[in-house]
Amino acid sequence: MDPTVPARLLAALRDVVDFPKPGIVFKDITPLLGDPTTFALAIDTFAARYRDRAIDRVVVVESRGFLFGAPLAYALGCGLALVRKPGKLPAATHAESYDLEYGTDTLEIHTDALRPGDRVVVIDDVIATGGTLAATVRLVERLHAEVVEIAALAELTFLGGRARLAPHAVHTLIQL
Ligand code: AMP
Repeated sequence: MDPTVPARLLAALRDVVDFPKPGIVFKDITPLLGDPTTFALAIDTFAARYRDRAIDRVVVVESRGFLFGAPLAYALGCGLALVRKPGKLPAATHAESYDLEYGTDTLEIHTDALRPGDRVVVIDDVIATGGTLAATVRLVERLHAEVVEIAALAELTFLGGRARLAPHAVHTLIQL
């Protein structure tokens, strides 16, 4: 990766303080998406990493993961598999729950979204605690597909998400 990429992408993020609740600094990706140069830079950087790794499917996490995973799958010439919030996917699903600060949340995948042995990249916008992606990986593994790598635009390193996702490889373009 060109060593100037992280700083160029970071400059396109906006910090929104106290969103969605007091004490959280939200990493707003909308300026990056709104600028065709930085949006293309993010997608092209991911695509260069995975182009020669025989990826069968990109697995995307609702909803901001869709924004990066769909163009990545197109660039790689591979399929897309959706992981969504409960009740959104119309056919038969598997579900996995994960803990939030207060309570739990659930994610679902169609039971036929992946084939056994498929090589997949799982992608989201930001890794915070890693709980969302850990549940997504469990869904992928229930379908007996292989997680080649977990990717995200940005990682909040102080929350330890990478450790939670071990032993899977994690690749992020920006570490905060
Ligand atoms: P987690 O499960 O804790 O890794 O949270 C991941 C999800 O929450 C990701 O899909 C992010 O989009 C979102 N998220 C959590 N914290 C932040 C943050 N500070 N800024 C932007 N998005 C965040």
